[in-house]
Amino acid sequence: MKRPLKKLLIANRGEIALRVIRSARLLGLKTVAVFSEADKASTHVAAADEARLIGPAPPAESYLNIDAVMRAAIETGADAIHPGYGFLSERPAFARAVEAAGLIFVGPSSSSMEAVGDKVAARRLAMDAKVPVVPGIETADAASVRAFAKKVGYPILVKASAGGGGRGMRLVEQPDALEAALESAAREAQAAFGDGRIFVEKYLAKPRHIEVQILGDSHGKIIALGERECSIQRRHQKLIEESPSVAVDEKLRARLCDAAVRLAGAVGYQSAGTVEFLLQDGEFYLLEVNARLQVEHPVTEIRFGCDLVAEQLRIAAGEHVADPVPPRGATIECRITAEDAEHDFRPAIGRVSYLHLPNAPGVRVDTFLTQGTEIGANYDSLLAKVICYGANREEARRRMLLALDDVVIVGLHHTTAFLREVIASEHFERGELSTHFVDDHFGKWRHDASAEKAALITAALVAAGTIGKGQSMRSSSNGKIERRDQSPWTTLGGFQLWERR
Ligand code: ADP
Repeated sequence: MKRPLKKLLIANRGEIALRVIRSARLLGLKTVAVFSEADKASTHVAAADEARLIGPAPPAESYLNIDAVMRAAIETGADAIHPGYGFLSERPAFARAVEAAGLIFVGPSSSSMEAVGDKVAARRLAMDAKVPVVPGIETADAASVRAFAKKVGYPILVKASAGGGGRGMRLVEQPDALEAALESAAREAQAAFGDGRIFVEKYLAKPRHIEVQILGDSHGKIIALGERECSIQRRHQKLIEESPSVAVDEKLRARLCDAAVRLAGAVGYQSAGTVEFLLQDGEFYLLEVNARLQVEHPVTEIRFGCDLVAEQLRIAAGEHVADPVPPRGATIECRITAEDAEHDFRPAIGRVSYLHLPNAPGVRVDTFLTQGTEIGANYDSLLAKVICYGANREEARRRMLLALDDVVIVGLHHTTAFLREVIASEHFERGELSTHFVDDHFGKWRHDASAEKAALITAALVAAGTIGKGQSMRSSSNGKIERRDQSPWTTLGGFQLWERR
């Protein structure tokens, strides 16, 4: 059944709100932004056709306040809501509230979200669909867990059923740490998710994180758009993602995609979603299903020449999902966050007093930053995503190095220099990745001071009118600080478009 959308409310902020607004505009929809008191001056507010204040800065009182978001949607006459990622995107209660108000939730139905949102439920679904899962035990009973651990061997991982963002997760390396870990994981899960249920998995020693992008429509068709490798993580948070994975050949890809589609099919999944796996020694195991768009979705968009948000909107409007064109080349994404990489990645706050972002063929930047943006402590630390395309992985990698050299953000600590060193490292170049990559090679990282100096000099020279806005200073590999002209290109060179039927 077709149900054309006219006005979309975006229940989010920052770069993802801007990203969604762009696709909504493409399809001719009017847009409504919501914002907290801290975000009055945010770019997403200015970008939408209308905007509604939904409460004070703390997320619980604004972006997580279902009643306030629903009121904004109803008062502005929106007929659909896109949740972005984070905040309310994976809360079945929110999807239910949207459905109950007769509006369209741009995402899976509340029932399939519920069915896959719980890690234990997803494990059971996977077992029924003959998708491999990590050996595990679905209980918090210490004696049973002890027996399980004896069988599979330590270490084991205690996880929260309702988990996300690494919370409620505890690594247990020896039997005597078991009971305390079970208790503290349950406590943390209860506090974070209002749900203290936990389960236990065997801890894989050196896995890669491989995930499959899926799209399902309301007519029962589900397609897979290849894999992304997200092994470069810190504390279970992704830092760098790429596609394709060097560890996945055609045969393995077919098996991964088939498993993802089977699992999604079991719950009649609609919209964009991601099925996450761990890969070790050629075998893969289900990790979880993310019933939403992912931060790293551009990696897939560029290889497949598609607009996943536009596809979500078309699916929500009852259209058929189109078969993808064959993917091309390789893509890498770096997440630049407001964190101090030298000091245990502690959150950074400040005002962006000077900003320069790369603009070159094969480079895409998704961000909400402008010069003057205030970064506070209330929200996620993501500042910008830099995504680079290449005919092959090495070209994408080299393009990423150039692109990161062009990033100048003055006014707060950010992770650009750290990301650049990871991308430049031999291990990354050789594709020797695992989820332990950062701990193994960058555990004690120290900033190359000249990069920071170069950023400050750029800001000073731009302020003084000595160099133009298209230029910046950067530190070269020998530590010298030199002037650098930004390339005048404005094209995104050679991205192929997804032909629609
Ligand atoms: P969350 O939803 O909290 O992000 P996930 O289940 O998605 O948790 O796992 C996040 C990361 O934790 C994975 O990418 C991987 O690095 C690590 N991890 C999770 N389960 C295991 C496991 N059984 N063995 C080894 N590492 C794991």
